[in-house]
Amino acid sequence: MMVRLQSISKAFAAGQPVIDDFSLEIETGERFILLGPSGCGKTTLLRLIAGFEKPDKGGIFIEGQNVVHMPVEQRPVGFIFQNHALFKHMTVYDNIAVGPRVRKEDETSIRKRIGKLLSITGLKGLESAYPGRLSGGESQRVAIARALANRPKLLLLDEPLSALDPSLRKNLRQELVEMQQSLGITFLFVTHDQEEAMELSDRMGILQGGRLLQAGTPAELYDRPASPFVAGFIGEVNRLTGTVIKQTGSVVKIDFGPELTLVAATGGHWLEGESVLGFIRPPRLAFQPSDDPEGGGRNRIAGMVRQCTFYGDHFLLTVELIGGARLSVKSHPQPMGEVLAPGTRGFVRIPEESLILFRPPPGGERRLDAREN
Ligand code: ATP
Repeated sequence: MMVRLQSISKAFAAGQPVIDDFSLEIETGERFILLGPSGCGKTTLLRLIAGFEKPDKGGIFIEGQNVVHMPVEQRPVGFIFQNHALFKHMTVYDNIAVGPRVRKEDETSIRKRIGKLLSITGLKGLESAYPGRLSGGESQRVAIARALANRPKLLLLDEPLSALDPSLRKNLRQELVEMQQSLGITFLFVTHDQEEAMELSDRMGILQGGRLLQAGTPAELYDRPASPFVAGFIGEVNRLTGTVIKQTGSVVKIDFGPELTLVAATGGHWLEGESVLGFIRPPRLAFQPSDDPEGGGRNRIAGMVRQCTFYGDHFLLTVELIGGARLSVKSHPQPMGEVLAPGTRGFVRIPEESLILFRPPPGGERRLDAREN
């Protein structure tokens, strides 16, 4: 176990806690991504682990040792923040060498390590350059190499790519994963970009209002979200509101409005008349064009295409169901497939196990988003 955060809390001044009874374990060599809306406490959490802040309570264990009272420079932790500052009057090489030189390591071993880091970070040939002439991506790589030069066991990254343009950002993401794998280092990476989180992570955690709502693999969070907030925060969802008709074994029948009675597989217990939120991911749905008005059936609902957009690797359809509800359907095009014209009739098939059910949170779903800004 690399990192164990045990019930840590942190409040500033007399305010409400910014980190609220937060627990998490991260394995050695894992890439763990923390995702959450602005202001949810992500940076504060990294600052606590790095040692720039002290928790009001709880333990921070790195390789079994409680580091809460250990000064920043003694923690086996490296960090890369969004606004990394390189020393402008120093070359790339000297910037990377700062940490090892402060610790008075010998120049021969520093040179060897930096040579390796320059090739891992793709900076070979730039060692004598000054930061002023580096591109955004290059200077971010220097910041990464500088953090790695101290041989941290754990690397904390706070939105390190957010200042870069989108295509560079995507490349650097892949490079970061490759670097992490070749060094076997543990990553704790913070972002508010869900695509970035899914692409980078072995596991990810969703943070809201200083609390960890759920941690798991991207697939677990996508297909088995623990709350409406998590479901809505990762990927797109269709939302339906309904009333339970009855449950038979592990199948529940739900009235989602006119001409929209669906059955859903469930591990829970639902009572007749209970309110229910039904979430469905667009790629879990299928649309089958058909002019046969009788072709319906269990979870096969008649509808009409209202909009169809071709994105190359998929179509995004807006289908208006017979009772008026609208669903987004993401489907893969056939080879040479054509865009389905608005007005095309057919059926949407909703697999029983793809309906994710929640009890409506008290005060309504929107309250969950209240801290978002
Ligand atoms: P963002 O994605 O916008 O960077 P974040 O999730 O990293 O947000 P934090 O920077 O951890 O959020 O801040 C969480 C809350 O704590 C915010 O309301 C912020 O104003 C507050 N906060 C952070 N640092 C301090 C501080 N030193 N003193 C007082 N309040 C602070």
